[in-house]
Amino acid sequence: MTSTAAFNPPTRVLMGPGPSGANPRVLRAMTAPLLGHLDPEFLRIMDECRAMLRQVLRTQNGVTLATPGTGTSGMEAAVMNLVEPGDRVVVGVCGYFGERIAQMAERAGGAVTRVNAAWGSPVDPAAVETAVKAAGSVKLVAMVHAETSTGVQTPVEPISKVAHAAGALLLVDCVTSLGGVPVEADAWGADAVYSGTQKCLSAPPGVAPITMSPAAWAAVKTREVPSNTWYLDMQLLEAYWDDRRNYHHTAPISMVYALHEALALVLEEGLEQRWARHERNGRALQQGFEAMGLVLHADAGYRLPVLTTVRIPEGVNDMEVRGALLKRHSIEIGGGLGDLKAKVWRVGLMGESSSPGNVLLFLSSIGKILREQGFAADVRAGLAAAAARLDQP
Ligand SMILES: *Cc1c(COP(=O)(O)O)cnc(C)c1O
Repeated sequence: MTSTAAFNPPTRVLMGPGPSGANPRVLRAMTAPLLGHLDPEFLRIMDECRAMLRQVLRTQNGVTLATPGTGTSGMEAAVMNLVEPGDRVVVGVCGYFGERIAQMAERAGGAVTRVNAAWGSPVDPAAVETAVKAAGSVKLVAMVHAETSTGVQTPVEPISKVAHAAGALLLVDCVTSLGGVPVEADAWGADAVYSGTQKCLSAPPGVAPITMSPAAWAAVKTREVPSNTWYLDMQLLEAYWDDRRNYHHTAPISMVYALHEALALVLEEGLEQRWARHERNGRALQQGFEAMGLVLHADAGYRLPVLTTVRIPEGVNDMEVRGALLKRHSIEIGGGLGDLKAKVWRVGLMGESSSPGNVLLFLSSIGKILREQGFAADVRAGLAAAAARLDQP
């Protein structure tokens, strides 16, 4: 490519595991003039982000901010600040992201017990309870609310009860759930919750919302040794985000604009309405898949509406189908991770991408491609089932 090649990325329909399509207002906000990161106007925008984040996370926690970096920076901030060398940590692992938390906790020096579940099932609270009792004096129980690698939602409350009965803190990964399915940080009793901008908040990847309860904050402040991360040290970050305004890093100004606009859009739509939209579109897609003759991978009753895993039929070529979707229809979906590679597709309906039009466009597009691949997809039945669900509240 020469330096004069036109910069002209195509417009895609983003229906993978992230990023989702961004709202045009979010993209427009990012083109606003830059402010200095200590400009009073920018500080006001940060304060508004904090207030809106508390509303969207449903928390009263003072310590609520956005770490610079994608969702993984929120994960690393939560884990690295809460886990000290020798701390006992129990992690529910039912997919790729739970395993990532476990690895981070080990790097922080934690003594980690994994409570494994099959990739397609939720974490079993009884198994967490057994592990917590066996480990003794556990500091932190960690879990993923919405496991994007498998399309499974693990209910938080039963695991929260187990953690708190044992005097442990609870960490919940809400990267894929926030803004798409109900997240109730305070009602759950979650002590650390983080998310990302590029899934159901529908902004580009770039910052990560995070909140810590007073109990988690006390644990961070009374660490015996400072955390190994300087960039994501929550005490330094909070000293920048609160009234002290101590320089720590130069805020990613345009990403904070994007977060601000994305949160405003969530609150304008209304959290309940937004959850209902994701539920309706997600179930329509899932019912459409089944009516077409495909098999959903995640356990019934625990399926996420925002990320659906569907099994690739015997004899159908994973890469050819995804390639055709992208080339002919400009639709991106995700492949399987780990053991699910070439076994499932991951179809996201997050944020802006969660629309009735996308559900119907996707089912008709993939139906046609599957038939070309020799799988007798019943496209009419699939579209009819999806349309029927879309007509309901
Ligand atoms: C996407 C995701 C992450 C990581 O977020 P990045 O933005 O890719 O860094 C962490 N946890 C879950 C559950 C995710 O879906």
